[in-house]
Amino acid sequence: MPDWPAHDSVRAVFTTRSQGFSESPYQSFNLGTHVGDESEVVEMNRHLLRELLPSDPLWLNQIHSSRCIDVHSDKSADREADAAVTDCKSLVLAVMAADCLPVLVCTRDGSRIGVIHAGWRGLARDIIGQTLRNRPGDWIAWLGPAIGPCHYEVGEEVRREFDLEDAFERRSSSWMMDLYRIAREQLTRAGVSEIYGGDCCTYCDVEKFYSYRRDGKTGRMAGFIWLT
Ligand SMILES: [Zn+2]
Repeated sequence: MPDWPAHDSVRAVFTTRSQGFSESPYQSFNLGTHVGDESEVVEMNRHLLRELLPSDPLWLNQIHSSRCIDVHSDKSADREADAAVTDCKSLVLAVMAADCLPVLVCTRDGSRIGVIHAGWRGLARDIIGQTLRNRPGDWIAWLGPAIGPCHYEVGEEVRREFDLEDAFERRSSSWMMDLYRIAREQLTRAGVSEIYGGDCCTYCDVEKFYSYRRDGKTGRMAGFIWLT
């Protein structure tokens, strides 16, 4: 459960890799259908998850873009996006990840919620600004588990995409990148006053989290948020 002072009308959960049915290398609570796991097993995991949610989650087709959709119904066919915002009750927004940074947001009065999939490409393309600056409100944010600066090694071509020198630390010929720091800065620039979470490394915690960088072939975790 995200630890943040969201309004009473906001509910959120984030899955770990435990207590599901998937076998190695996806053990065990893999929610991704696109990673090579048995689809019947993923469905069993999703079925378990469904007991926690008021309705079927709206899965996005995440493409590392800066595109945010405004969702008004669970029948929405437009899913090609890396962020979604809604004010509809009981509509469950979802964001999937295994190293990329998943961000949950809600307005302080609990009238609107959103999810943001923020990997380095999304951050470089301003997915946070595109989502929140274009939808002004008194937003607060929770940063889910992502790969930490202890393990996220990137090249000069990635560092060059950002104007935040503090988020990169030199390691011989490459850079260690701090996704959390960049996200916090971009959230602040987008007017978000309070930011919570952001204290895990998916690569470090093998028991709890999937990590694409660590394992390559692996499962996906997901965050969910809805209004009651
Ligand atoms: Zn780490």
